[in-house]
Amino acid sequence: MPIPPRPLTTICQNCGWRYTSFPASDALKINVDVFCCCPSCQHTELEIRSASRTEIMRERLSQFFIWPRF
Ligand SMILES: [Zn+2]
Repeated sequence: MPIPPRPLTTICQNCGWRYTSFPASDALKINVDVFCCCPSCQHTELEIRSASRTEIMRERLSQFFIWPRF
């Protein structure tokens, strides 16, 4: 049985860009779940770590509000 991977937070040390992703499987998608460089400033040394509880909650909330309402 596959174990869902933990949410990841990617942080650019250069410009402060950050992104929390919820990988659907352990096959991470480039530029969706993981980034090879910062989409904002193209900095290549990104910090990737497990998302904190606060970041997970904030990201889930923002996704909830982006989704169309029926
Ligand atoms: Zn950056």
